[in-house]
Amino acid sequence: MAFPEKKIDIIPDENGFFGPYGGRFVPPPLEGPLEELTEGFFRYKDDEVFQAELARENKHYSGRPSPLYHAERYSEHLGFRVLLKREDLNHLGAHKLNNCLGQALLARRMGKKKIIAETGAGQHGVATAAVAARLGMACDIYMGEEDMRRQQPNVTRIRLMGAQVIPATSGDRTLTAAVDEAIGAWVGEADTAYYLLGSVVGPHPYPLMVRHFQSVIGREARRQVQEQFGRLPDQLVACAGGGSNAIGLFHEFLEDESVEMVGVEAAGSGVDSDRHAATLTTGEPSVIHGMKTYCIKEGTVTSEGSHCIAAGLDYPGIGPEHSYLKDAGRVRYEAVTDREVIPAFESLCRLEGIIPALESSHALAYLERLRGKLDPDTLVILNLSGRGDKDMDEFILRRGEQNGDENGGGDGQTGPANGLFC
Ligand SMILES: *Cc1c(COP(=O)(O)O)cnc(C)c1O
Repeated sequence: MAFPEKKIDIIPDENGFFGPYGGRFVPPPLEGPLEELTEGFFRYKDDEVFQAELARENKHYSGRPSPLYHAERYSEHLGFRVLLKREDLNHLGAHKLNNCLGQALLARRMGKKKIIAETGAGQHGVATAAVAARLGMACDIYMGEEDMRRQQPNVTRIRLMGAQVIPATSGDRTLTAAVDEAIGAWVGEADTAYYLLGSVVGPHPYPLMVRHFQSVIGREARRQVQEQFGRLPDQLVACAGGGSNAIGLFHEFLEDESVEMVGVEAAGSGVDSDRHAATLTTGEPSVIHGMKTYCIKEGTVTSEGSHCIAAGLDYPGIGPEHSYLKDAGRVRYEAVTDREVIPAFESLCRLEGIIPALESSHALAYLERLRGKLDPDTLVILNLSGRGDKDMDEFILRRGEQNGDENGGGDGQTGPANGLFC
């Protein structure tokens, strides 16, 4: 393989660059707080007490290790062996808690009293509010006014767990507004507050740090597959929005040249349409949200509403390490459409009694493309990033659309289907 030797494990460099990507592109007032955070992360990440605290929370609060489950009926359907890494079985039903627990424990070790975060669809806000409650810390979740209206149940969940939801009222009153206002608040109270970012994106050290906390997924999977099958997998597959569950699975295997890796993006209505989130498939390198990375070209997708069926994948950038891994040819990135996602989602429900998140169903949809095309002994690990109970309303709407059902919720351009989750 044309991939550079063992260099992969030591990236990024001290300025947070993965090759040409990543770094820290921020206004001067953010430099100090980010430097303090970087120092804190490097001071505590290998600290024995910190590691013991994190291991304990992962085990007793979240329920790790998550199973690596051989989905036999689903494997039979596809014609090769599929092992599901069951991140859907974590407390709160997704991989997001791995990162939130790590960062919240770090915040406490750094002496911070309050956690600040932004949220779009609300999933990251809920996970952050939960860890703040668990550690008895104050918590402010910034959420666009428009998103609060769309995501009322998550607003209720966040408030139930004792956090404040602060409406972001600037600009489009969605995620961008929430990011701007949350960062502004952090700069004002960085002495006592910790900013908890939800994926492997943003300025250094977040992409490195979030990878560190999510790589528990791949560490467990590597041990489990060797215990259960006595060998490494042939392929790893994961959906990629910001890219944290994907890198969490991939990281531990990057130096194993025999292991192929595929990140699956959301092609929404199609990569040639104006509604998708296929960053690496269609985008080009640029600076966004404090990092250099591939980014969807301005003007190629609509600025409003949902770009794909899964809110968690609807992000115009991607973690810088993924940009690097794409250019290096180490990971392949594919994009699947909403239309492919629904039948894949239904297959897993019907064949295994597992309702996957629509985000995770993008990875499943990619496997459907391989159906009958691989050797039956092929061993694939698919990261089942979350459970789909949250997605029932969206499923009902989209299923109706695909059937041309009049009650199914419109044409996807206007009406209730538009922006329901994103
Ligand atoms: C948030 C979310 C994602 C997307 O985030 P990544 O950082 O790309 O992992 C994927 N799956 C689920 C279930 C999510 O909640």
